[in-house]
Amino acid sequence: MALTPPTLDQHDVEEPPSHSQIQFARAISYIEGLPLGLIEFFQTSKRSVTVNFPIEMEDGSVQTFRGFRVLHNQALGPGKGGLRYHPHITETEVKSLATLMTWKCALVDIPFGGAKGGVVCNPKDLTQTELRRITRRFVHELGGLIGPNTDILAPDVYTNEQTMAWIYDTYSALHPGANNRPVVTGKPMELGGTAGRTEATGLGCLFAAQKFLELEPLPALKRIKGAKVVVQGFGHVGSVAAQKFHEAGATIIAVSDSRGGIFAMDGLDLDAVVAHRHANGTVSGLSGTTAITNADLLTLDCDILIPAALESQITSHNAAEIKARLVVEAANGPITPEADLILLERGIAVLPDILANAGGVTVSYFEWVQNTENEQWELDDINRKMRHKIERSVQLVVDRKKKLQLNTPVRRPTSEIDLRTAALVVAIERVAHATLQRGIWP
Ligand code: NAD
Repeated sequence: MALTPPTLDQHDVEEPPSHSQIQFARAISYIEGLPLGLIEFFQTSKRSVTVNFPIEMEDGSVQTFRGFRVLHNQALGPGKGGLRYHPHITETEVKSLATLMTWKCALVDIPFGGAKGGVVCNPKDLTQTELRRITRRFVHELGGLIGPNTDILAPDVYTNEQTMAWIYDTYSALHPGANNRPVVTGKPMELGGTAGRTEATGLGCLFAAQKFLELEPLPALKRIKGAKVVVQGFGHVGSVAAQKFHEAGATIIAVSDSRGGIFAMDGLDLDAVVAHRHANGTVSGLSGTTAITNADLLTLDCDILIPAALESQITSHNAAEIKARLVVEAANGPITPEADLILLERGIAVLPDILANAGGVTVSYFEWVQNTENEQWELDDINRKMRHKIERSVQLVVDRKKKLQLNTPVRRPTSEIDLRTAALVVAIERVAHATLQRGIWP
C-alpha cells in the first residue's frame, strides 16, 4: 500500500519542502507499514539550535555571527555531521544536510545518527585569528549540546583540520579531565586524527563507482579505465576524487572551483593543476588549458561527471543537457529532485551522495573508534575496511533497486527506480526498525 506523503515539519510550514524531504517522500512511498507518526518524526529534526554571538575583529570592530547545529536523529547512535562555514548557509539547508547524514550513516551501517552545523560567514574575508575566535565562541555557545557520545563534529565546506583542532581544544577546555578526542573527527594526526581521512571521501567515490560498474555496467560505460571524467569543485573531495579516478585509469578532462573551470580534451596534468591552485588560489588560468564556466563544465560530453562543490548544481534547467553516462555525487545534494527525475528518464545513472561520498563519514567513524579506544590503525587496514563497507552498500542498493522495480505496481508512471530512492529505502527501513526495536519512549 502506498502511503500518503507526510506532513511537513511544523516549524517549516511557511517554507517549501527541502530536497531531503522530497526525496524522503519519494522513498517512503515504496515502504509498507511505516507508522505515520514515525514518518512525521523523520521529517522533522530532533533538535535545531541557532546561536548568535559577537566577535571582536582584528581591526577592533565587533561583528555578530549566526551559527546553527541540527541533530536530526539519534536512533542508531550519537549525531555525526560536518560543520560548514559559508556566507549563504541557512537553517533549512543545515536541516536538510543533517537529514542526509542520518540516512548516510544508516546506509553504510555505522552506529551514528545525523547532524550538521554551519556558521554564516565568509572565510575568504576573515583572518585565521578571527576564524579561531568564531570557532571557539561557537563551540562555547553550543555548550553541552555536542560531545563524544551525543553529537560529533567534522569538517565540511570551508572548514578543515585546523578548525577541528580548535573545536577539540575548546571542548577540552570546557570539559577537562576526560578523553575528549572523539568529540570531533578530521583532526590533525598529532591530535588523534586518523590515517586516510583526508582522502576517504574522494577514494570512497572511486570504490562506489567501480563496484557499481562491476554490478551494472552501462551500455556506454563498462569500467573506470579509459573513462572521460569531469569534476566540479577542486577542494578536499574533488581534488582527491580527480586524482583517484586518474590513478584508476580515467582521463580527467575538466575541473573547476568557485572562480571557474579548465578543460583539456586529452586530459589535464593534475600535478600542474594542484601546483597552479597552490600558487594562485584557483585552478583557473592554468596554461595549456581552455577556460570553461562552471555551467558549461557540467554539460561537457564525458562518461562520468563528479559534482564535488555545493548543492543544487544540476537542476531542471540543465538536467536535459547533461551528457555524462554516470553522475557520482561527491558533494551533498548536488542534484535537485526535479533533475533526478529528468536524469532517470534519460537513462543517466546517479550514484547518490549518501552512497558515493559515504567514505568520509565511514573513516570518521574509524577515527572515533580509534580515539575512544586509544588506538592507531594502519592506512591499509582503514582503506580495506572502508572499501568493504562501501562495496557492500553498493551491492545492497543495486539489489534493492532490482527488487523494488520487480514489485512496482503497473499504475506507476515508470517502473524504473533510481539508486537514490533504493538507497533511501534501505536507510529509512534501518532507522525505523532501530527506533521501533528500542521502543518509543516512555
Ligand atoms: P572544500 O571547501 O574543500 O571544496 C569545495 C570546492 O568547491 C572548492 O574548490 C570551491 O572553490 C568549489 N566551489 C565552491 N562554490 C562553487 C561553485 N559555485 N561552482 C564550482 N565550484 C565551487 O569542500 P569539500 O570538503 O571538498 O566539500 C565539497 C562537497 O563535498 C560538499 O558538498 C560537502 O558537503 C561534501 N562532502 C564532503 C566531505 C568531506 O569529507 N570533506 C564528505 C562528504 C561530503
